[in-house]
Amino acid sequence: MTAPLDPAAEAGWADPPARKGFFTDTSICIGCKACEVACKEWNGVPEDGLQLLGSSYDNTGALGASTWRHVAFIEQPAAPVVDLGMPGTQLPGEADGAQRTDFRWLMESDVCKHCTHAACLDVCPTGSLFRTEFGTVVVQDDICNGCGYCVPACPFGVIDRRIGEKGVVKNEGLAQKCTLCYDRIGDGLTPACAQACPTQSIQYGDVDELRERAQQRVDTLHAQGVHDARLYGESTHDGVGGLGAFFLLLDEPEVYGLPPDPVVATKGLPGMWRKAGLAAVTLLAGTVAAFAGGRP
Ligand code: SF4
Ligand code: SF4
Repeated sequence: MTAPLDPAAEAGWADPPARKGFFTDTSICIGCKACEVACKEWNGVPEDGLQLLGSSYDNTGALGASTWRHVAFIEQPAAPVVDLGMPGTQLPGEADGAQRTDFRWLMESDVCKHCTHAACLDVCPTGSLFRTEFGTVVVQDDICNGCGYCVPACPFGVIDRRIGEKGVVKNEGLAQKCTLCYDRIGDGLTPACAQACPTQSIQYGDVDELRERAQQRVDTLHAQGVHDARLYGESTHDGVGGLGAFFLLLDEPEVYGLPPDPVVATKGLPGMWRKAGLAAVTLLAGTVAAFAGGRP
């Protein structure tokens, strides 16, 4: 797939500003969840339950209509497991070349990817989801009719309808997700989550510049012996044309619950419409021929 260089221009914005996005460097995330709290605070996102999951120290579970940022805690034993014990103090890959005998935590602050080819936006029948001049994807609460078409269209399971008591919970029934703080970036401010991140694991800026910075970071980590470091979603040649919010990971994407090869759900639509049109024309021609052939 050939991606447009600038999704805002593709969407019809004249002379748009540079595309904005996130580079999330999971190698320096400490799992403090300041981003989750800042997002809720700034955007007025309601609380959606805090429970220890039993599988992890994570207590917010997953991205959803009321969790626009989610910090995943992945507790990863070494293979083969020799002794779980307590976590070691050395950084991943710094155990004198020896096999790790303990486990490690991988932390990753996940968010809407603000895809170059966004299926959520493609399938929205009301125009509630739209492409901003910054190349991001935003839902307009006052236009969303709660049909939910966008929910299965997202290849990352990001967008969802908010559940709660009607008239009590804000935007109950409507599709909700990260706006990349459209109101803040329009005023030249940094999104709330990136502003709150104490380690700069979440970096906000021009996507082109972030891609260069991310590649430099991968090169640095490789030089330091962290050979598993890799970028996810930075390539404009993937199935969604590259992500506006992309990541540096320390393991396979599946470990973080990310699809290894995401594809925009509407990719097959043009071909399907072509075939449906061809079928309709063939049917019409057959009907006309049947009537014409039946005349005396
Ligand atoms: S990650 Fe999902 S919700 Fe976000 S822009 Fe892409 S398709 Fe839409
Ligand atoms: S950019 Fe704004 S809306 Fe999106 S996760 Fe960060 S704080 Fe929340």
